[in-house]
Amino acid sequence: MNRINTWLEKHNLRNFPTLIVVVTFVVFVFMIISFLNHNDEDSSTIYVTEDTELRTGPSPIYPEVNSIYKGQNFHKISKTGKWIQVESSNGKEKGWVAGWHTNLNIEADANPNAKPLKDKTIVLDPGHGGSDQGASSNTKKHSREKVYTLKTAKELKSLLEKEGAVVNMTREADEYVSLEQRNIKGDAYISIHNDSLKSAKANGSTVYWYKDNQEALAETISATLQKKALLTSKGARQENYQVLRQTDVPAVLLELGYISNPTDEDMITDKLHRHILEEAVVDGLRSYFSE
Ligand SMILES: [Zn+2]
Repeated sequence: MNRINTWLEKHNLRNFPTLIVVVTFVVFVFMIISFLNHNDEDSSTIYVTEDTELRTGPSPIYPEVNSIYKGQNFHKISKTGKWIQVESSNGKEKGWVAGWHTNLNIEADANPNAKPLKDKTIVLDPGHGGSDQGASSNTKKHSREKVYTLKTAKELKSLLEKEGAVVNMTREADEYVSLEQRNIKGDAYISIHNDSLKSAKANGSTVYWYKDNQEALAETISATLQKKALLTSKGARQENYQVLRQTDVPAVLLELGYISNPTDEDMITDKLHRHILEEAVVDGLRSYFSE
């Protein structure tokens, strides 16, 4: 007690009202600080804002404990980085959930799958070439399929390389390449063509697959083409094409519009339209390799 008295005397605080004022001031400052620090993260109950899973530790590399669902609430036990350790009210479910799947204001980590095409080898097969010019249009433009399959493949190659993919082409110039020579291995194989029919009415894109291990890739690319491209989408179809039959790789044959249809021809020959198609193919590949 003596020490305190000495301290109070030394600081001229023997006067009781002064002491009250000082104590009140300190309490007030403390309340202000705790008020400013308060945010959602301090609440002890958290809500799950989208279906996700509990893990045994605070990162996606830890094994899953069980699935949890939008709307479930948990008692918050602790927090490490952006991960929250939680427990259900009955104590049966316990584990770690990523903070960005909860009502806490936590920004998601960069998706580790953001570059799913990195180091994937994609084979691009521009249809026809050289003496084999493929289909051609009946308009004044006289567009030839072999020219636009190569343009599309080259443009697609540079987009895929930006995604970190390794791209091998079955041809890079206007030259004849036999179907057998087009059989190159990779993680995915994309043969690029344009359709044609006598009737100028036929239009749209079709994604062909033949073997079972090709269907998922075809469906995925067909979906992204449908979503993004201006061409009518005719969906994914099974067809016994040699480029598909002769490979073991997940392979698809893209018919990117009818060169015999003047509207499709305008799109095929227009760099901006091709770019939209190519972006859609990249989206499809990204989503295929994300799964
Ligand atoms: Zn063709």
